[in-house]
Amino acid sequence: MSKNLDIINQHESAVRSYVRSFPKVFTKAKKHKMWDENGKEYIDFFSGAGALNYGHNDDHMQEKLVEYVTSDGITHSLDMASTAKATFLEKFQDIILKPRDLDYKVMFPGPTGTNTVESALKLARKVTGRTDIISFTGGFHGMTIGSLSVTGNSMKRKGAGIPLQNTVTMAYDNYVDHDTLVYLERFLEDNGSGVAIPAAMIVETVQGEGGINAARFEWLKKVEELCRRWGILLIIDDVQAGIGRTGTFFSFEAAGIKPDIVCLSKSLSGYGLPLAVTLIKPELDIWKPGEHNGTFRGNNHAFVTATAALDYWKDGSFEKEIHKKSQIIYQFLEQIVADYPEIKGEVRGRGFMVGIASEVEGFAEKVAARCFESGLIMETAGPNDEVFKLFPALNIPIEDLQKGLTIIEQSVKDLVK
Ligand code: PMP
Repeated sequence: MSKNLDIINQHESAVRSYVRSFPKVFTKAKKHKMWDENGKEYIDFFSGAGALNYGHNDDHMQEKLVEYVTSDGITHSLDMASTAKATFLEKFQDIILKPRDLDYKVMFPGPTGTNTVESALKLARKVTGRTDIISFTGGFHGMTIGSLSVTGNSMKRKGAGIPLQNTVTMAYDNYVDHDTLVYLERFLEDNGSGVAIPAAMIVETVQGEGGINAARFEWLKKVEELCRRWGILLIIDDVQAGIGRTGTFFSFEAAGIKPDIVCLSKSLSGYGLPLAVTLIKPELDIWKPGEHNGTFRGNNHAFVTATAALDYWKDGSFEKEIHKKSQIIYQFLEQIVADYPEIKGEVRGRGFMVGIASEVEGFAEKVAARCFESGLIMETAGPNDEVFKLFPALNIPIEDLQKGLTIIEQSVKDLVK
């Protein structure tokens, strides 16, 4: 038993979870690999739950960060003006927003995904003067009272102890044989239904924690249409599906929709540093100074690495690389599902946001545990942890991608024996 793991088990509160799934102490990480304190090497198909889409300690970002730190660049400046912030904002406009014909103001809501969601919900209420938020079954948006109240997972909601209010949870796409949006429209048309016109709808285009559920583009378009018809603000939570994970910088680009508010965090800094932005249509920029602030809004180290990360998106070649490699993943996984019918598996996802759902109870967790023993880090998702979730770094070399996939296949094989 490791002394460091003993210390963690003894002193850290019981709320820890990944320590249980990956019971090793890690010391080092580079690109798509991690090492534990015994020097064992792992391929990382977890990527910090989507916070490390470019892998660990990317050379280009590291170089820029070291240069900045050793020249005494400002670390913390609240939301004062800094060169690191200005450079990030300019490059974000030039490389990301303008080429996509997107007109958003950038707000720094606080350092985490939860902060951006919370700011989006709060702003939507202020702008519309309405209270309710429509969210979807299987959605995950954060752990605070507001973000948890739009999270469609009863186990997570139990953490709040008491029921959470002012939200209506509707069925997400794909998982019902009726059209939830038709119901919603009926409710809104019928004043007596008890469903008031909401301030906003909050949607993930592909649900991460909910089990890699990818909404169809037509469904997302219908969500947008419904929002426009009723003056409801459309919030896309791209905290997990964004920054290239589904194959494009924003996950909603491919669906051809333009949300009113976009939540980004996780891989935005590119380096695992906490950074979040809430993108808002310019006309929504109504908060006065002080109506939404926070001590850790805008970490300059995170701005430096986030700026360097944007270089990946300069010329469209990265999208092509992601697409090519994701084809390899889907082919491989479809083959596993076909070769091992006992696992009753279904391949799910979009781009590099991929999973296999297994109807066999507890199977996904067993696969993840077996893979970990064999040097592959992978987590599970879904309300009953029924999906094993593949989140390799987007820039992983094909050879190591295939190595990781082979470990999965071997683990499945060993377990069905
Ligand atoms: N939204 C989505 C879609 C997420 O996946 C997460 C985190 N898993 C969050 C919000 C919350 O982000 P954070 O953990 O950084 O607060």
